[in-house]
Amino acid sequence: MKSRFDYLEEMSIDTEWLRRAQKVVQTSSPGKNTLSNIQNEASECNKCILASTRDNIVFGSGNPNSKLMIIGEAPGKDEDLIGEPFVGRAGKLLDEILFSMGITRDNVYITNTVKCRPPENRNPSHEEIESCSDYLNQQIKSINPTVIILLGKIAANRILGTEETMSDLRQKVFTHKLTKIPTIVFYHPAYLLRSPSQKKNMWDDIKFTLEFIKKNDCKIN
Ligand code: SF4
Repeated sequence: MKSRFDYLEEMSIDTEWLRRAQKVVQTSSPGKNTLSNIQNEASECNKCILASTRDNIVFGSGNPNSKLMIIGEAPGKDEDLIGEPFVGRAGKLLDEILFSMGITRDNVYITNTVKCRPPENRNPSHEEIESCSDYLNQQIKSINPTVIILLGKIAANRILGTEETMSDLRQKVFTHKLTKIPTIVFYHPAYLLRSPSQKKNMWDDIKFTLEFIKKNDCKIN
């Protein structure tokens, strides 16, 4: 049977980051084991209709001691197949965004608003995100990052409880209601792949974020 590494390598994706991230999870301190407990609970979950169509739960991956947590919208086809968030082209672009911030996947924890793939890659519904919110909130509390980055309008609107457009959400610092952690919104990498002309704006957003991090001594790596 093929491993997730085999699938990733067949897609010409460097798996070194994933191997390192898994090692970090396996050797993390006992105080962070709650993340494994949350994942075990989610792996059996059938709280919403997405349970009936998933191949794998895509719980999240990365450093459980991370100071930076990244939250996207929902797993896609490749992620569902492998059980890891942000693989494929959008994942590669996310790696480039992180690299331009001076960090790698080893430095961050990445997850989505819902842990199961919506059929045909449709947007997750409000109800599905609400059903899954307890897992996400527990992840945020367990990791306790100094900064959260939300990828795209769907994640931003649901988590921040707004209906604002991306142009209103960019280059602002919000507060995550439950934890009071500073929260910034980026374009979703999949959107940037469809709209490459927006990449210049992405660079402006990265500069804004790095300035905020420096000014507030947030130390993301
Ligand atoms: S999306 Fe979340 S709430 Fe819905 S079945 Fe998957 S883990 Fe459960």
